[in-house]
Amino acid sequence: MTTASRLVLARRRRGLTVTRLAQHTGLTARRLSDFESGRATPSPPSLAALSAALEFPESFFSAGEVADLTADSVSFRALSKMTASQRDIALSSGRLARELQAWIADRFRLPPPEIPSLTSFSRLDADGEQVPSTGESAGESCPAEDAAELVRARWGLGYAPIPHLTHLLEAHGTRVFSLSGDCLEVDAFSFWDRGIPFVLLNLGKTAERGRFDAAHELGHLVLHGEEQMPHGPLAEAEAHRFAAAFLMPRADVLAHAPQGATTDWILQAKRRWKVAAMALAHRLHELALTTEWQYRTHCVDLGRLGYRKDEPRSPLTRETSQVLGKVFAALRREGVRPADVARDLHLRPADLNDLIFGLVVTSQEGGGRGGFDKAPPSLSLVR
Ligand SMILES: [Zn+2]
Repeated sequence: MTTASRLVLARRRRGLTVTRLAQHTGLTARRLSDFESGRATPSPPSLAALSAALEFPESFFSAGEVADLTADSVSFRALSKMTASQRDIALSSGRLARELQAWIADRFRLPPPEIPSLTSFSRLDADGEQVPSTGESAGESCPAEDAAELVRARWGLGYAPIPHLTHLLEAHGTRVFSLSGDCLEVDAFSFWDRGIPFVLLNLGKTAERGRFDAAHELGHLVLHGEEQMPHGPLAEAEAHRFAAAFLMPRADVLAHAPQGATTDWILQAKRRWKVAAMALAHRLHELALTTEWQYRTHCVDLGRLGYRKDEPRSPLTRETSQVLGKVFAALRREGVRPADVARDLHLRPADLNDLIFGLVVTSQEGGGRGGFDKAPPSLSLVR
């Protein structure tokens, strides 16, 4: 038997329309639609053609149902600007990440989720519209900023810089996976699944921006609820402010930054918080440490020096998952190879590797690109 929804999932994971898949397989679009709706079942030759064109093992198509993931429930940044194919690739990657997480959770005790839910700090309703103010104090108070301070307080972080954001999220129960290189338009996204927070990160960006993206997604998880993520510029602005405040706490920036800092100071100080130079310049302005004119000067200077999209000569390496590194190392000790995991999930090893920061290759080499530089989050084999 073929599970019709898996045909749809596999096609969307490859970012293909029914018409394009028809061209790749030699089957008619009408026939494919019948397969996908369950009105017809593919014959063995048709299934072989689909398996080859979609690059999923045939066994993938007969496994059980995979729960859906809708664009409403994930924190896509600019839904209207995304192409349908990028959206499909990202959402289906999220569904496969959830399958992998379930596989791991059956075998390992993972850190329990400890992401505070502070939706009352958001000023948005589920549609991303601003809820009229109920008279809370204006001026200094910024709910997203307060939420970031509260999460830091609950996690006992004080105001110190965060050495490794991905490890921190994982230690508090977030399941962090990587996005494949075929959806680079998507920076990152997050969602809740039955009380478990997920974050998927694009690896095509600088280490600094990857950290900011992860903090931004934490902001969505904290501020924007489990049922439906609000979308739109206001939700993005809240998550952005949360990320800036979480990575560069007001108290720590005020303690270190001079009034009217120079561009050179920013280029030195960005290393303290491990953020992009542009992000620090923006934060200084947000905290009224620079004037509008100084901020514009910083933007022009940094743009000229190549810091608009990149972080030239950055000593940082891209963060990877600690939990996944430990899981695959533990499996290897048990004699379970990544290829076995991929086979269990009915995936090609390459698709598994895309979800796990490319750790499979390094783990086979006995390496461990992520490095376990801090106390590992609690993780133990269940059996
Ligand atoms: Zn966002």
